Amino acid sequence: MSKRDYYEVLGVHRECQIEDVKAAYRKLAKELHPDRNPGDHTCEHKFKEINEAYDVLKDPDKRAAYDRFGHAAFDGGMGGRGPAGFDFSASFTDVFDDLFGEFMGAKRTRRQNRGGDLRYNLEITLEGAYRGKSAEIRVPSLIACADCGGIGAAPGTKPETCATCSGHGKVRATQGFFTVERTCPKCRGHGRVVRHPCKTCNGSGHVQKERTLAVDIPPGVEEGTRIRLSGEGQAGFNGGPPGDLYIFLSISPHPFFQRDGHDLYCRVPISFATAGLGAEIEVPTLAGGRVHINIPEGTQTGHQFKLRGRGMPILRSGGHYGDLFVEVRVETPVKLTKRQKELLRTFDDESAQGSQPDSESFFARMKEFLGGA
Ligand SMILES: [Zn+2]
Ligand SMILES: [Zn+2]
Repeated sequence: MSKRDYYEVLGVHRECQIEDVKAAYRKLAKELHPDRNPGDHTCEHKFKEINEAYDVLKDPDKRAAYDRFGHAAFDGGMGGRGPAGFDFSASFTDVFDDLFGEFMGAKRTRRQNRGGDLRYNLEITLEGAYRGKSAEIRVPSLIACADCGGIGAAPGTKPETCATCSGHGKVRATQGFFTVERTCPKCRGHGRVVRHPCKTCNGSGHVQKERTLAVDIPPGVEEGTRIRLSGEGQAGFNGGPPGDLYIFLSISPHPFFQRDGHDLYCRVPISFATAGLGAEIEVPTLAGGRVHINIPEGTQTGHQFKLRGRGMPILRSGGHYGDLFVEVRVETPVKLTKRQKELLRTFDDESAQGSQPDSESFFARMKEFLGGA
């Protein structure tokens, strides 16, 4: 079967720019991609054809060779080595790099791998979140072995280039007409093998160690706050940078205060007599002191008193605070003595018109509703 002209395959003219080649290839690759045309052998063949054409025409050197010698420049076809020394299989994945950009990044960092990130869950009290604090945390993590410098080879020896992957860290396998790259099983992607492992770390280059880190928790932190300690994660591989440590803060429930953003809420029960007669009550604050609230005569249950600036500190606000809302709940007395009951009956008998405005308005509305039915 004679091969089609590469320019013809991509539908571009001989003098076209590299941008035109790329644009034409992308358009065709989308149309002909096997994922979009499952089981269609014509598409499969064409897809292979455009990839081969693109591989040559996107590369100025290969394109120049092709322009001079035609297909003869690359005799041997896919996977073969042509007279000009081009290795097709080696560049085949480059085609996919163009399609799926993330392969590029993965390739560049192949040898020096960044260490993993660590997550540490830290629970603090609401008081701790209010005041802010410096917490010490103990983090078990992998750190670079001091004896071998994180290389994994016994002192005085060096790791050798992996023979299986020639140090690439990846091996290629052909599945159908796809070339699949996978991590080298021999060196697990490191590209090097250690023949004389370091005794301290058994050749891993890492040792497990518990580290103590100080974390500054600023006043006003909220539930779910993430604090990043840059470079305090797992050690990198082959001298790569370490990962980061993320501290996820949670705040334990408080027995007295509920928090909503910068504001605090609490409920204080007051007696029926206090509500009716009025009084001054004391409420504790997160700052540690107490505040006085003047309950006026005739305070209804559910009434909220706002104490400005007695809430949580507002993060990075330069000393501003939210508010504290104190809701009073009138408690109905239980286990009344005989005398208390008598007094309440007397109290009730003496209740004058206008002393229970809510009830009076309610019963008036009910009467109207029933009368109108
Ligand atoms: Zn070591
Ligand atoms: Zn290898």
